[in-house]
Amino acid sequence: MQCPKETQVELKDGALFAGPKAKCCPDCGGAWIPPEHYLDWQDRNRIGFEEDPTVEVLPSAAPITFDPPPLDNRAALCPDCKHYLVRGRVNLRNTSFFVERCPNCKGYWCDGGEWSILEKLRLHTHLEHIFSDLWQAKVKALEASERERQATVDKLGPEIAAKIFELAELLENHPNGDFGVAYLMRRFEE
Ligand SMILES: [Zn+2]
Ligand SMILES: [Zn+2]
Repeated sequence: MQCPKETQVELKDGALFAGPKAKCCPDCGGAWIPPEHYLDWQDRNRIGFEEDPTVEVLPSAAPITFDPPPLDNRAALCPDCKHYLVRGRVNLRNTSFFVERCPNCKGYWCDGGEWSILEKLRLHTHLEHIFSDLWQAKVKALEASERERQATVDKLGPEIAAKIFELAELLENHPNGDFGVAYLMRRFEE
């Protein structure tokens, strides 16, 4: 089996750090994770599939720096069944990279270094999330709300911003919270 990014290089049997058995490229450090190995590993760790992605593994919350490997952007074929690999975006604070999956056999490809980042993000146990529309929508929503929060801090300073976040939470959790919101809006309408 050849490296999908460098078809002249033969993949070798190996394993990912604290992860499943994989076919590893001795040149670029990428790894092909055959679907049966991934599912086995998930089962053995009793992680299994979760229907709903959980917010705590959302990647944008993690302050991790990473330079995506140069081969990350290269389109590639499944080293096993030769279908085009589909890319799933993982966003970090200042960059993003792609995990790849074969749409046919469901094997995964991680370029060199990507698995250890996924492990730090605790996304390594949920690779299927990266390829789900629901997951990607939640990532976008979380990022938008983080940007809005940051903009509030920038405009009003950390002290007032903290008060506003606290007030927003109080109103959100109060059964008549909308009265408070209406009051504030009236105050600023004039
Ligand atoms: Zn390679
Ligand atoms: Zn395949």
